[in-house]
Amino acid sequence: MKCECGKDIIYYRRYEGRGWCRSCFVRSVEKRFRRTVSKNSLVKKGDMVAVAVSGGKDSLSMLYMLNGIAKGFRLVAFSVDEGISGYRPKGIECAAELARSLGIEHYVYSYREEFGIELDRLEELAGKKVKHCTYCGVFRRYVLNKKARELGATKLAVGHNLDDEAQSIMMNFVRGDLNRFSRLGASHGESQKFVPRIKPLRDIPEREIAAYAVIKGIRFSGDECPHSFDNVRRDMQSVLNDFELKYPGTKQQVVGFYDRLKGSLPLPEGSLKECEECGEPSTGNICKACELLFSVNVKRPDQSS
Ligand code: SF4
Ligand code: ZN
Repeated sequence: MKCECGKDIIYYRRYEGRGWCRSCFVRSVEKRFRRTVSKNSLVKKGDMVAVAVSGGKDSLSMLYMLNGIAKGFRLVAFSVDEGISGYRPKGIECAAELARSLGIEHYVYSYREEFGIELDRLEELAGKKVKHCTYCGVFRRYVLNKKARELGATKLAVGHNLDDEAQSIMMNFVRGDLNRFSRLGASHGESQKFVPRIKPLRDIPEREIAAYAVIKGIRFSGDECPHSFDNVRRDMQSVLNDFELKYPGTKQQVVGFYDRLKGSLPLPEGSLKECEECGEPSTGNICKACELLFSVNVKRPDQSS
């Protein structure tokens, strides 16, 4: 099979019913990325974009593509070490390597420094079986926002791809969580202490980002977190993958439908205030991170004396 340009194909998009050669494929992925950025005005002149890089294919391809369009705005990269042995260190190494090669500053923060806890020690501290992802998701959002703000960022870029976005939409839909459902989208967030998040990869399928990273020679960590086998997202991922196989284009339709619906959704309830414990943005008097730390009886390093 040939690409429209006449060259041999290296990638077949089932949802389009056509194949792509190497150079046309790369161009089409980058075009889709730029379209998401411009259509949603994700960056503007003078912005300082803090790019969250886990070291996986998504975040590193995002850093690479953002660097390619970074005229009039600045970039800084940072990683968060959750304290999952044998998993995160390799990703951080890949992130540092790419940032160095692009001449972008890269910082590393950890749950241990921020919360005095490593994810691997959670069960020991909680004294019972816990869902690691529940804690990790809350802690990560917290650290990403706080550190992006401390770095002086006006935007926080996260590497959510089309698959992630479709999963988030469907997860909140089946949970009936209208408040979280209405917070999704290409960008969100307004509050003095909340750095608006942008998702420049949200229109690109995960498989295509993986292919892009390989073609571009971006070294990334393909390791899976040992806790990822026990979470709702994983179940939703498998449902959507089955649907996509049978009905190509399903993920795009889910995200496209959400975007059409978004304007009619009620505004998320509850304005953001400051957590009484730590001062970070929160919808309640105490933020979720502080609540979870109380639940496992952990004091932050700055509170332990
Ligand atoms: Fe954290 Fe769960 Fe992701 Fe592992 S799979 S990094 S525990 S959110
Ligand atoms: Zn708090």
